[in-house]
Amino acid sequence: MACLKVGAIPVACLPAHRHAEMGYLARHTEAAGWLIPADLRGVDAIVMAEEIRDLVPSLREVWVLGDRIGRGMTRLADLLADPIETHCPIADLARLAPSPATAAVFQLSGGTTGVPKVIPRTHDDYLYNSLASADAAAVDRDSVLLIGVPIAHNFPLACPGVQAALLLGARIVLAPSPDAETSLALIERERVTWVPAVPATVLSWLDHPRLGRTDLGSLRTLCVGGARLNPEPARRVLDALGPVLMQVLGMAEGLLCYTRHGDPADVVVETQGRPVSPDDEIRIVDERGRDVAPGAIGELLARGPYTIRGYYRAEAHNRTAFTEDGFYRTGDLVRRHPSGNLVVEGRRKDLINRGGEKISAEEVETLIVAHPAVLDVAVVAMPDPVLGERACACVVLREGARLTLGELTRYLGEERRIAKFKLPERLEVYERLPATAVGKISKAALRDDVRRRLETEATRRS
Ligand code: AMP
Repeated sequence: MACLKVGAIPVACLPAHRHAEMGYLARHTEAAGWLIPADLRGVDAIVMAEEIRDLVPSLREVWVLGDRIGRGMTRLADLLADPIETHCPIADLARLAPSPATAAVFQLSGGTTGVPKVIPRTHDDYLYNSLASADAAAVDRDSVLLIGVPIAHNFPLACPGVQAALLLGARIVLAPSPDAETSLALIERERVTWVPAVPATVLSWLDHPRLGRTDLGSLRTLCVGGARLNPEPARRVLDALGPVLMQVLGMAEGLLCYTRHGDPADVVVETQGRPVSPDDEIRIVDERGRDVAPGAIGELLARGPYTIRGYYRAEAHNRTAFTEDGFYRTGDLVRRHPSGNLVVEGRRKDLINRGGEKISAEEVETLIVAHPAVLDVAVVAMPDPVLGERACACVVLREGARLTLGELTRYLGEERRIAKFKLPERLEVYERLPATAVGKISKAALRDDVRRRLETEATRRS
């Protein structure tokens, strides 16, 4: 929040990000400072920061939360102990107030092609994003929000999230994790009214023995998004918790759709909502960019007051990610429900949605193909009952080479040092990868094949 006041731009990195992501993002955004806890989920963040700082000339400052620091780093506590005036006169800080149309926060794309894309959200658009979603999602100054997912994500930060809560004077309860035990206890104790969650979290709550024993009488809204919530668990939410369910189709690039309290139950259960702003423009188009017939499935295009017109420093990618007249191609396949709301039916973009956390297939494939045992690779989604999807690596090996899932994940995690949630959770070895009519790898065929194998294994086990 202080950064926003003085026009310093936070890059919304995740606690799961490791050397690969942090190094790339620091370089791409020319980050000047890095704030880290000394220990980051068992990883020595100080060592990581030292290594990356040596490679990124712009990175001048590293502030550490905790007692231990590395060479040339500053303890955050020491910095806060000094009066601000020792570093900068207050009057100068006030003069730094940024212009509303400049970037406020660099969000990260949920994985499209290759490396993550940086999303420049401006002060005016991000402010509107938060307040318009507070209006749609029924957050006001009496709300109590429980945030258990990484706070830098667009959803807990700005939809309506921490930003709207602070702007409106609502209260925020920060939880160390979204797990059922912690969250249910906090909802009861803090009289929480509003919770953002991904479907995997909701499923884990529904099955938890604590659910029946907890007083959830304060809860007004369980807002579910980030991945598709199927109608069956959606109905279970209504049965177990009453009319608290709200679905959201959101994206860090902008467009936000919510179902609204007061919508008929079937609309809340079956759809992912409608836009928050009267100025949001939506098109649903076929592969040639023509509007589909009403109710038919097509790709969702979005343009509006808080949807970006381009990624940061990504000129070539922007030429395909946006239409000539400025619509963002979401890569999501949707149809319009008779109520007017949108229903997500699939996607065109090549990613794996692991419980709301997005994995770019191409990013992981580029690393895997550099492994000495691998000749060719495709990373595809495989179904998972809780997370929705997990990543499966389908590989063709070089002659005589061998590879196990353990070796592959060791290589990606320890040598290429990518975030753990991106590691494939299954490995399939093929003689050759199936091809489409035009000779590209057929990911649809691979997905079907992996799904069949999983089904066969499940049948054998039962
Ligand atoms: P992110 O920017 O990480 O929030 O990812 C945005 C993407 O998540 C969207 O473009 C969708 O592909 C997916 N997504 C978000 N909310 C939903 C939802 N309610 N149902 C299905 N997919 C969703």
